[in-house]
Amino acid sequence: MSERPDDGFAPAIDAHVHLFPERLASAIQRTLTDAAGWEFEYAIDRPSMESTLVDAGVERYVALPYAHKAGVAVGLNEWLAAEAADSDRLIPFATVHPDDDGVGEIVREAFEAGARGLKFHCPVQECAPADPRIESALEVAVEYDRPITYHGGTAPMYEDDPNVGADRFAEVVESFPDLRVNCAHMGTYEVDAFVEMAREHENVYLDTTFAMSTEAEEIMGFDPSSIDDEVFETLSGSIMYGSDFPNIPYPYRAERAELLGRDLSAETYRDIFYRTAIDFLGLDD
Ligand SMILES: [Zn+2]
Repeated sequence: MSERPDDGFAPAIDAHVHLFPERLASAIQRTLTDAAGWEFEYAIDRPSMESTLVDAGVERYVALPYAHKAGVAVGLNEWLAAEAADSDRLIPFATVHPDDDGVGEIVREAFEAGARGLKFHCPVQECAPADPRIESALEVAVEYDRPITYHGGTAPMYEDDPNVGADRFAEVVESFPDLRVNCAHMGTYEVDAFVEMAREHENVYLDTTFAMSTEAEEIMGFDPSSIDDEVFETLSGSIMYGSDFPNIPYPYRAERAELLGRDLSAETYRDIFYRTAIDFLGLDD
């Protein structure tokens, strides 16, 4: 699975990568294999991951941790901060579990240690985007002007989950209008509702992870061509490239091939592959 940069892609920021301590990363992949039958081929250690990303033309990437139970967030945040200290490409996010003691303090400490934003995986962490248990975390994010990435959509297997979906997501948008929030995977399977939210609210972002891959139809039953070019052209300031790497059951290149196969303007490609992430992350570059 060799990688090379494509015209129009590099230099890119991948706003949705998963880096975990090796045992946990393997456990997550096993869970995904059991639940969805996906097989993974990429190595899960940082040097191997970074070499694949760099070969593809990715300049920097956002690592999104998530605590699947109470009591492990602090350790994950500290581990990721140490990894980031050894890398000039890794942009670390923080995690906290809704049942942790001192939710707001955990997030504050992580931000002080350099975490650039916060990640919630709503179905895995069993919390809605504006769940009262994480309210203090959201307040700290506003105070530090740090963004939040949510797995807030119903894909790929959460359509009956009460914590995800556009209506749930609208709650955090209404309650925390100053917070920059990203719904991963283009908000699948409720893309239209999430695109509408992004049109209406400048602080609502979407990432292309998985949903825009050439394998999306096969792997998650979503047809990326159902999203018009107009959406990307008009909302290029709200949509950013992401991949879920290395937890993808297909070559990394598939994450950008569908987008690059479109006839979007050079400006739009620069936004999606780079500038919008800079803006979402609040980096000056
Ligand atoms: Zn992910």
